[in-house]
Amino acid sequence: MDFEEPANWAKIRHEAEAFAREHVDATVHENQLRTGDGVDKALFAELGRRGWIAPTWPVAEGGAGLDHFEAGVLSRVLGRAGVPINGYGTTMLAADAVREKGSGQLKRAVLPGVAAGTTLICLGYSEPDGGSDIFACKTRASRNADGSWRINGQKMFTTYAHMAEYCFLLTRTDPESRGSRGLTMFLVPLDTDGIEHQAVRTMAYERTNVVYYDDVRVKDFWRIGEVDHGLAVLQVALDAEHKTSPASQTAALLADARRWAEQTPGPDGGLMIEDTLVRERLAGAAIDAEVTELLGLRAAFYDDVGDDPGPLAALYGPESYLHWAGEFIDAAGPAGVLDWTSPHAAIGGAFEYHYRSAVGTTIYGGTSEILRSIIAEQRLGLPRSRPRR
Ligand SMILES: Cc1cc2nc3c(=O)[nH]c(=O)nc-3n(C[C@H](O)[C@H](O)[C@H](O)COP(=O)(O)OP(=O)(O)OC[C@H]3O[C@@H](n4cnc5c(N)ncnc54)[C@H](O)[C@@H]3O)c2cc1C
Repeated sequence: MDFEEPANWAKIRHEAEAFAREHVDATVHENQLRTGDGVDKALFAELGRRGWIAPTWPVAEGGAGLDHFEAGVLSRVLGRAGVPINGYGTTMLAADAVREKGSGQLKRAVLPGVAAGTTLICLGYSEPDGGSDIFACKTRASRNADGSWRINGQKMFTTYAHMAEYCFLLTRTDPESRGSRGLTMFLVPLDTDGIEHQAVRTMAYERTNVVYYDDVRVKDFWRIGEVDHGLAVLQVALDAEHKTSPASQTAALLADARRWAEQTPGPDGGLMIEDTLVRERLAGAAIDAEVTELLGLRAAFYDDVGDDPGPLAALYGPESYLHWAGEFIDAAGPAGVLDWTSPHAAIGGAFEYHYRSAVGTTIYGGTSEILRSIIAEQRLGLPRSRPRR
């Protein structure tokens, strides 16, 4: 077996590391902490100029023509270096669905801006009454006599709605339907009359939104796929979201923990890095960071052969991140629970930040319980945990 990094991966890695050195400094991280969204549009445009927003798209479409493995190396290096990539994560989930299922006109109108890093798209699935059950969707799209649509309803947790250009919106078009039938997807321009949003702050200070749609009129141009068959469109985005775990920060947590252990005096006069319990935790976190990366590589492999890896990475990455965030808070003691505004905080408040943000990563993109059910039912062939609706 050859454990050497292939030359094409090394090339991408070097380029991405050079990009991060040039563009990521303390202000990027601070902007993320202060705003809670981590979207840096100037940085997105820089990524877009290199074809790195949509790296697997052909160069002619504004991508970089990378294969799935090369794209994986790119997102791993950018993520580890602290380049805020979550905003283009939601954008690409929707953009790939538009690219696969949208009309030619819609693609021409939207996709060049996506690839250039100037267009942000948010995901409008969750509703206040539905929670994880997105197929309980009540947001209603009804057809007007002129073929346009009128949308009424409310969406919960629409992250980036306050700054995105479009929302990839799940609606119910057949009022008689239930569950996953009778749904239709739209790409709704967020500057349309009748749309309002309110900020919701999470325990990690992340900014997400409640969005109200009150008689919002959109042309049929913005519909994606067939009327009442939105599931086929939505599934493209859901499957893609379940393959990887970009929000999991175990590798970044490990880097912070190692720095802390090398700098912090231990109880017996030496440094924390000499403490057996601290070393055990560092080793455990290193193993889980590696496993998370390998699961990402496994997803790239499945993509390459046209198969579905299931949501293993999306479950394992966040769960291990949450586990080790707790372990390092415990190791650091009182200084570990102070945030970045305190001069006494361990490692600039990084442990406190990881501890709060890790919880959210086990919720968005599907909670761990939902992902476990998908693995049990769809990968292991176990009986359904709830009746089909
Ligand atoms: C910070 C943040 C950002 C988000 N961003 C977006 C976004 O941009 N767009 C979007 O559409 N959504 C978004 N979401 C929604 C997210 O993806 C979840 O689907 C949603 O939060 C789940 O609903 P709930 O929080 O009301 O929990 P509930 O669904 O009410 O779940 C409560 C608990 O019950 C468990 N549970 C629920 N159903 C089952 C089941 N069938 N089997 C076993 N256990 C179950 C859950 O795992 C959880 O532990 C975001 C959520 C958060 C917290």
